[in-house]
Amino acid sequence: MKIGFIGLGVMGRPMAKNLLKAGHELHVYDVVPKGVEELVAAGAIAESGNKEVAEKSEVVITMLPNSPHVKTVILGVGGVLEGRHPGMKIIDMSSIAPLATKEVGKACEEVGVPMLESPVSGGEIGAINGTLALMCGGKKELFDELTPILKIMSSTITYCGELGAGNTTKLVNQHIIAVETAAVAEAFVMGAKAGVEPEVVYNAIKGGYAGSKVLDGKLAMAMDRNFKAGFRLDLHIKDLNNALETGHALGVPMPLASLVMDEMKYMSANGAGNDDSAAVMRYYEKITGVELTRSHN
Ligand code: NAD
Repeated sequence: MKIGFIGLGVMGRPMAKNLLKAGHELHVYDVVPKGVEELVAAGAIAESGNKEVAEKSEVVITMLPNSPHVKTVILGVGGVLEGRHPGMKIIDMSSIAPLATKEVGKACEEVGVPMLESPVSGGEIGAINGTLALMCGGKKELFDELTPILKIMSSTITYCGELGAGNTTKLVNQHIIAVETAAVAEAFVMGAKAGVEPEVVYNAIKGGYAGSKVLDGKLAMAMDRNFKAGFRLDLHIKDLNNALETGHALGVPMPLASLVMDEMKYMSANGAGNDDSAAVMRYYEKITGVELTRSHN
């Protein structure tokens, strides 16, 4: 099949490579040439813009940072819709605001282009291994039709409902990871200040009710002093912002999300925006002067 892929960043590059490996003809574009060059070396065809990708593709996949980028790429001047042709379909795999997904999907439908949303979870490693978890929203028939393509990039696919349901599900995921990372930091800093090594506490509790992937993954980053993204702090701020906007539009108070959002913003303002979102843990280290290292003395 002829597939278009727009947005060749941390996630898009390995996802696109897996589509190539599965034997699909891939037409690619990104405003930054680095990702395009890497994909061309792997066998993809470089296009001069988003419209040109659409003109050559039966299915166009987008993997972009946030709602404004998706609006520009799909609805904007020189965008995907300008390159539309009968039968073309769109899968937006970016994590964006559910309201924006609905808006973009409606505009696409009005000109006869069906759109599926499919934000992902699983990080760069999941993208490389083709084991992402997908949260899909849109018409069920469209989801069924596009599932074979989605399967190449993932090991778990969940149909969540109409357009917006996939990104709503993703926001629930992002909210929990953000708040849990902050909770781990606060609690472990208290433990370390009281004189118990983070690693001792971790080994004691990881098999109990507090055990989790967030505890394993994010605490290890702090203990190893390795905050290389991974998932960039600034992208997590974007997700929390989308969660807060969604919650506020629905009248749902979200005090925990607001609090962690401010801590993340503080760290971003202090130069950690491109670090992994685990950098929020350093906020608690900064205010106490305690580092969650492996050998804390
Ligand atoms: P990224 O910033 O590394 O990549 C985004 C790419 O989009 C960049 O290469 C950028 O140049 C390109 N782009 C931006 N505007 C464009 C335009 N107008 N036309 C063409 N290309 C454009 O981000 P990422 O880490 O790959 O994440 C992509 C999405 O996936 C985000 O919504 C993110 O929240 C989500 N996500 C990321 C991870 C992760 O671990 N990195 C995990 C799950 C979900």
